[in-house]
Amino acid sequence: MPGPEAAGPGTDRLAQLRESLAAVRARISSVSRERPAGAPEPELIVVSKFHPASDIRLLMELGAGDFGENRDQEASAKAFELGNGWNHRRQRSVHDSSSTQLPLRWHFVGQLQTNKAKSVAAYAAAVHSVDRPALVRELSKAIAAEQERTGRPDLLCFIQVNLDPAAGHPAPGSAGAPHRGGAHPHEVVDLAALVDAAPGLVLAGVMAVAPQATDPDEAFARLAQISAAVLERFPDATSISAGMSHDLEQAIRHGATHLRVGSDVLGARPALR
Ligand SMILES: *Cc1c(COP(=O)(O)O)cnc(C)c1O
Repeated sequence: MPGPEAAGPGTDRLAQLRESLAAVRARISSVSRERPAGAPEPELIVVSKFHPASDIRLLMELGAGDFGENRDQEASAKAFELGNGWNHRRQRSVHDSSSTQLPLRWHFVGQLQTNKAKSVAAYAAAVHSVDRPALVRELSKAIAAEQERTGRPDLLCFIQVNLDPAAGHPAPGSAGAPHRGGAHPHEVVDLAALVDAAPGLVLAGVMAVAPQATDPDEAFARLAQISAAVLERFPDATSISAGMSHDLEQAIRHGATHLRVGSDVLGARPALR
């Protein structure tokens, strides 16, 4: 058995990621077996924020293709290095590696300022944090312009729902915390209608982060009800983006179709950002 000395740091990291990715996939499969027969297994999005592009490259070799980022500056730098998944001219191969040809989709999962819509349109396949009409307008404009230039595909949009019982009153300066942000539950169907009508945008469904002080089971049950209300009007908007490292089991039990998992695959991030 090779010890740490026998293998270079890159090899160690690859082995580490192989193990953690397999463990997360095993958790997903195990809970997914409780679901009704025929229900597809949820898709795993590896949230790669704060981790280097080299880790993403290793994860692509291990078969991951969907990556989540929550800050435009960091995400656009990684997309510049690794590509955006549809425009091969943007992809720069560092080691003459075939991994740049593997499937790659960037998911934007953080709070998004309208002035970043143009930048995000250059690399994101999906935005999970659509939470207000002004953002829908700016994303639609930016995607339309990008489609003229590059023929990029439509942007998949998830309406982020604030499940905090005190929803609708985001504290000032709360932009970095993942449990903040999101539309009030009562605003979700109207916002979904705006996305559905917007050129270049495709309504995927809903997204939420379970509020810190509440039971994730209860939070994801409410998200499932909100998803059902959206589906009544938009039967194609079947996606539910829910579940992180510590609550992916609960999310799957309540119908999550997209899981956003960071630390259980990539390890701890710095607590402060
Ligand atoms: C960071 C983040 C995640 C991943 O969280 P982990 O606890 O590391 O799995 C998921 N969703 C959003 C919106 C995030 O910001």
